[in-house]
Amino acid sequence: MKNTAKNTGNIIPFTDLSGQYHSFKDEVDTAIKDVLDSGWYILGKKVEQFEKSFAHYCGAEHGIGVANGTDAIHLALLACGIGKGDEVITVSNTATPTVLAITYTGAKPIFVDIDPEAYTIDVEKIEENITGKTKAVLPVHLYGQPADMQPVLEIAQKYELKVIEDACQAHGAEYNGKKVGGLGDVGCFSFYPTKNLGGYGDGGMAVTSNEELAEKLRMLRNYGMKKQYHSLIKGFNSRLDELQAGILDVKLKKLDEWNEKRRSNAKIYEELLENVVKPVEKSYAKHVYHLYVIRCKKRDEVQKNLAASGVNTLIHYPVPIHRQEAFAGFKNISLPFTEKYSGEILSLPMHPDLDEEQIRHVSGLINSMYS
Ligand SMILES: *Cc1c(COP(=O)(O)O)cnc(C)c1O
Repeated sequence: MKNTAKNTGNIIPFTDLSGQYHSFKDEVDTAIKDVLDSGWYILGKKVEQFEKSFAHYCGAEHGIGVANGTDAIHLALLACGIGKGDEVITVSNTATPTVLAITYTGAKPIFVDIDPEAYTIDVEKIEENITGKTKAVLPVHLYGQPADMQPVLEIAQKYELKVIEDACQAHGAEYNGKKVGGLGDVGCFSFYPTKNLGGYGDGGMAVTSNEELAEKLRMLRNYGMKKQYHSLIKGFNSRLDELQAGILDVKLKKLDEWNEKRRSNAKIYEELLENVVKPVEKSYAKHVYHLYVIRCKKRDEVQKNLAASGVNTLIHYPVPIHRQEAFAGFKNISLPFTEKYSGEILSLPMHPDLDEEQIRHVSGLINSMYS
């Protein structure tokens, strides 16, 4: 088959970050220079500004910049008072850090299966997993699609549980017209370079409209201090730095445009792909396609063939958390959809700079494998 990919030689990369930088180099370089010239590099004006703008974007009152998304979840759980002996309900079909953050607090993750169509937490299975030890529900807005939050929030209210959103893959996604992150008690974001909003290094943020939680989070990220050199609690060093905040504030202005581009790219895949299971955007959701994940027969073979044709794909995620070596003690649980899908899912190239020709090429290759 003729390779029609342009600009990238014969390779269609999974993601492409340097092209994006060159499209607004001047603005980013100015933001970086501002920070370097200011002589103030940690917890200064840029972080404060970006915390305001990002929290506002999410429909939350407070933003607390932290070192990464994992820390945002960890500190959010701690701020909610979760620790040893507690249980947190979440999914196994997620990135490792979701669950690591729970275990850091000493709490036990309780895994529930996923909705077979949405790939996010099956809200029908939450209540049967609630015990006297349950303190929180931690839904993950996986691949850019919000979890079904209304039932989650209702159950949480009924059982007095905290809701911590893992929104690390869903900057700008909406649930019934409201941005994710501002729906539960705390929303947690990562600004890892490949995320829908990413810096040029690590970064993260917790957003909340609860003043008390915001105050705790601010202490937790900065040695537990409320006033300089006066630690009220045993906190951590987990701060977003001025350089990343300055860069992210520039990039935030482009987020909606980039998400729209991801959505229109997803629409092209949707129209072209045959014989594979394509992502479903739920009626309550505005999906922002952090990842475009299909399910297909003979997945490993398809992935190998695509690689041979220069198309880079990934698997998110090949082994569910409850089956990973680092997380012992879950041998006896069974999560049918989570387990079955891990052998079928395949993430196709997806980023705002992907063009129609490239999507046609990838889709054509996949269609030809099933004919
Ligand atoms: C990226 C990611 C995280 C962790 O973010 P880091 O910034 O890498 O620590 C957590 N949860 C999910 C679902 C993610 O995709």
